[in-house]
Amino acid sequence: QAKDKGRNSFQFYTADMNLAVEQRLTIERELRQALRFGQFELYYQPLIDLGTEKIVGAEALVRWNHPVHGMVSPADFIPAAEESGLIVPLGKWVLKTACYQAKGIQKALARDFKISVNLSARQLNEPDFITTLERCLRETGLAAASLELEVTESTLMVDAENVIPRLEQLRQKGCSLAIDDFGTGYSSLSYLKRLPINSLKVDRSFVKDLPEDEEDRAITSLIVAMANSLHYKVVVEGVETKEQHEFLSGCGCHYGQGFLYSRPLPADHFIALLFADDND
Ligand code: C2E
Ligand code: MG
Ligand code: MG
Ligand code: MG
Repeated sequence: QAKDKGRNSFQFYTADMNLAVEQRLTIERELRQALRFGQFELYYQPLIDLGTEKIVGAEALVRWNHPVHGMVSPADFIPAAEESGLIVPLGKWVLKTACYQAKGIQKALARDFKISVNLSARQLNEPDFITTLERCLRETGLAAASLELEVTESTLMVDAENVIPRLEQLRQKGCSLAIDDFGTGYSSLSYLKRLPINSLKVDRSFVKDLPEDEEDRAITSLIVAMANSLHYKVVVEGVETKEQHEFLSGCGCHYGQGFLYSRPLPADHFIALLFADDND
């Protein structure tokens, strides 16, 4: 009986493996086509000053406008793009498009506007990453100071010795750096101290149960206090309710992002929102 069970589960496992491999190959082939046929699109989610409730910047978030499946969320294809290395050309496209659109927005608004772009570990480790970045800024005319790059805490943990000099180069170019999903990666405070960062983006898992959850209240207010005294800009992600907004601004957090203010929007909708926001 045990033997039967063993054989069945073995067969199930191989079948499943084949399926997984096949799906992976399909998604890779489709991603390559998507790049060639321009099926990616950037959505923009406003970054809000919690004091004035005005838009001070935006985060660019990639979407895959799939011919059959419709709008696909990055959670469903970034892992495959990372594994296949396609994140490198995709990441270049994201960076270039975001810088170009941010420059357009600055011209239209006649004021400063900051854009945040997510970077994957693979991109950061590309030998020509800095060259790519410089070319992108030169070609779009966006000032380095208007670009913030977001790297997750777990990316920073993988290969700290190589990552830190890379981040220092980025800072020397004049770009800002944010640690994304902060609080989920077990990094120590002594490690944090060595990183040349400007901002912390507190992961939304800590915000979800605010203001009711006592532990989350303690954790978020502690992170905010620590970030403020280390002179990091602190951004809280995933603000969905008025109560969360009140709690966060009450504990000294200056910036937030979340569905309460706006969902990520297609570029034209985002620009319309930005104009309306500037005029009231
Ligand atoms: P992230 O960088 O932490 O981005 C924030 C995610 O939280 C976005 O999901 C956003 O839609 C979502 N979000 C924002 N406010 C709220 C809220 O109030 N409630 C809830 N429940 N969710 C909220 P999205 O767009 O699905 O992106 C998921 C992740 O995919 C991003 O997490 C980022 O890690 C990655 N990603 C997106 N675009 C890129 C990209 O161009 N390059 C790379 N390497 N990764 C990307
Ligand atoms: Mg991010
Ligand atoms: Mg984030
Ligand atoms: Mg996150």
